[in-house]
Amino acid sequence: MLLLIPGPVQTSPKVRAVMADDIAPWDDEFRAEYAAMRPRITAIAGGIEGQHVSLPLPGCGHMVVEAAIRTFVKAGEKLLVVRNGGYADRLARLATEAGRIVVSLPGPDNAPMPPERLAEALAQNPDVRHVALVVSETGSGIVNDPNILGPVIAAAGRRMICDAVSGFGALPFRMSEHPECDVVVFTSNKCLEGMPGFGFAVAPIGALEAARGNAGSWVMDLADVYDHALQNGWGSFRFTPAVQALRAFGVAMDLYDAEGGQPARLARYRRNADVLYDGLIDLGFTPYVAREHQGPIIVNVHQPADPAWDFGRFLKAMKARGVIISNFFTTRAPTMRIGCIGAIGEADIRFALAEMAAVLEEMGVGRRAAA
Ligand SMILES: *Cc1c(COP(=O)(O)O)cnc(C)c1O
Repeated sequence: MLLLIPGPVQTSPKVRAVMADDIAPWDDEFRAEYAAMRPRITAIAGGIEGQHVSLPLPGCGHMVVEAAIRTFVKAGEKLLVVRNGGYADRLARLATEAGRIVVSLPGPDNAPMPPERLAEALAQNPDVRHVALVVSETGSGIVNDPNILGPVIAAAGRRMICDAVSGFGALPFRMSEHPECDVVVFTSNKCLEGMPGFGFAVAPIGALEAARGNAGSWVMDLADVYDHALQNGWGSFRFTPAVQALRAFGVAMDLYDAEGGQPARLARYRRNADVLYDGLIDLGFTPYVAREHQGPIIVNVHQPADPAWDFGRFLKAMKARGVIISNFFTTRAPTMRIGCIGAIGEADIRFALAEMAAVLEEMGVGRRAAA
């Protein structure tokens, strides 16, 4: 089966193969294996050993996003959320439910947030200390680039929190060039092409030390994850980890390095996205995002206006042909999103496009443009 969903993504058989063993996570050998991964993770985030650390948290991506917000934003403090998509809405919800005060900076969900708008919002809200942004918005495919928005946050003397989950490892970002950044979060899956099961945060040591006691949760306290490592070693865990997923992540990082790291991964995904974007237009679909704003992680198109169109039927027919695409959308208009990430290449995208053409034909969907 070919997974063209924006996570969990298609993985290499080499990554999956190492999951078959039982492993004792507190065993000395595994401790060493895990301790060796942590500086590699920090390096992928562009962090510097001795200044930044990587902090793993078992669970899904939203857990580590919540942990980052709880750790760096005190309860009752304000957090400005760049609010231009479905995943930004999720971030706002989890921050609110954690007792943080969300100030929204809304924007259209088919374009990145302009830096001037963020600068204005910060000027109008002098009591906001943190800005949270979703880097690659998984609901639409746009990218809010921290290399553009970060300097605005720095100039206003505020702190940045990046939900980089969907693009991390492919989109360029170097923690060492962003002194305004308190934390960047991502997972073992998505662009790093490991198995799901782990979230990671990379943070400056100074910011973590200043964040002790903020979280209001033991399980989701990144400062406590840091303190535990200081006391018990970098190969230790607080709680039972998804240990097989962690071993697989080590293999995924080997494959990442062998491919050529971030530039190579971005180039492969960019090619996937370009072929997909053009191919969907050729099939008659209307893209949700204009070409100049289209990121390399997912491509989103409007669902066709033709009365013969039936999203559920389309998905089922595609699955019967070996391709799974996302079965929900978070945009206001009905859309369909297709992932460009994972252990896949141009040939897989071309295969999926050919199957889509055949299914549309079968269903008798002639008018494929937006309503
Ligand atoms: C995938 C994703 C998450 C995390 O999703 P989970 O289902 O919780 O793993 C968070 N933010 C963004 C932008 C994502 O793409």
